[in-house]
Amino acid sequence: MTTWWCEQAVVDGRLESSVNITCDGTAITNVAVDSIADSEALRLPGVTLPGFANAHSHAFHRALRSRVQAERGTFWTWRDLMYTAAERLDPDNYYGLAVGVFAEMALAGTSCVGEFHYIHHSPGGTPYDDANAMGHALLAAAQHVGIRITLLDTLYLHGGLTEVGYLDPVDAQTRFTDGSADTWATRVDSLQSTNTQRIGAAIHSVRAVDPESMRTVVDWAAEREAPLHAHVSEQVAENVQCLHHHGCSPIELLASIGALSSRFTAVHATHLSDSDIVHLGSCGATVCMCPTTERDLGDGIGPTVPLTDAGVRLSLGSDSHAVIDQMAEARAVEMNERLASETRGAHSAIELLEMATSNGHRSLGWNDAGRIAVGQRADLTTISLSSERLAGTPSEFAVEAAVFASTTSDITSVVVDGEQIVSDGRHRSIDVAHELHRTIEELFS
Ligand SMILES: [Zn+2]
Repeated sequence: MTTWWCEQAVVDGRLESSVNITCDGTAITNVAVDSIADSEALRLPGVTLPGFANAHSHAFHRALRSRVQAERGTFWTWRDLMYTAAERLDPDNYYGLAVGVFAEMALAGTSCVGEFHYIHHSPGGTPYDDANAMGHALLAAAQHVGIRITLLDTLYLHGGLTEVGYLDPVDAQTRFTDGSADTWATRVDSLQSTNTQRIGAAIHSVRAVDPESMRTVVDWAAEREAPLHAHVSEQVAENVQCLHHHGCSPIELLASIGALSSRFTAVHATHLSDSDIVHLGSCGATVCMCPTTERDLGDGIGPTVPLTDAGVRLSLGSDSHAVIDQMAEARAVEMNERLASETRGAHSAIELLEMATSNGHRSLGWNDAGRIAVGQRADLTTISLSSERLAGTPSEFAVEAAVFASTTSDITSVVVDGEQIVSDGRHRSIDVAHELHRTIEELFS
């Protein structure tokens, strides 16, 4: 039994003061607001938020940071380097890199990551002796860091979609494909969920998976009530290719094979039609926006207001890890909207916080996480309000300060499933900068 005393905390969506939060094992068993600190309580000055969910990650993209901005950093600079990194990974160096990346996420307040995982096999496409060696490396890395993970094992079969149809995978893409959806399903069936690790499914995109193969993934996820994610309409070219080949948009194609449900998350969903938005809203789907990546890649700005008006929940991911900062993702949703609409005030700070917390956990299959409330997992991310960035914040605007002005340097404590993994702004067992430096240097040496 552990009690944390929070100077301020967001309890079930409301900012409260002087809050004792008691947890027994991994779950919150009592929350008392406006109460003096328990004598045994561990003190958390500042504002304590529910742990963040990073709902869309490709861990290895972290190795590209800075390198892909060379010269003027075109899309092709990015994609060529991404494939170079993908070709050099093996289960050992991927484990080391993922430890650094997930630990950076932990320092950024993350209690759970959704890893959209598609580098399955050895260079050339031959499976490792353990066909899930790469997935196991990611699961082990998350466990070592102390955050939960939903491994979104991704079906990727084709090298692209053009006027002539689906292309064969080439170069690094040969590592991504299982050859068939049935082989994918058999491999994924041997991955085990635990109390802190879940297995979900993903369709890479309409460019990489044909509709018949998509159906196998949809059925696999439905039988297991598992989360199902897909990259959707990130760039206009994908919509054009899909319309030309299938006669409909990517969302309409996914709807036609029964992929859309409350377990479905469309990642990006930047370029949607009105009909696409109705499809997503009517089934209670989630859209995972990744605004810092989308602006880095020049993708465009997604329709956040029509989506939320239609009943779609928004979650957030750092995707290519141009930066890892969930509050930066949250504020970018609102800031992009202001730039596009020339109007302030589309989403409140609490609504943006929900995208980073409860909506993200839900899209990863953790309905018991993302809120500070009795029965929820004890995930607590604490932001100090005493730095030069946040000094002068009135207590009633602590959430606005966190969402609109904090950086990851302001995060002092992170508790995941009742265990404190970050204290005084440092991971308790990992030298994160050292791990990232070492593993990225080795990858490109
Ligand atoms: Zn992605």
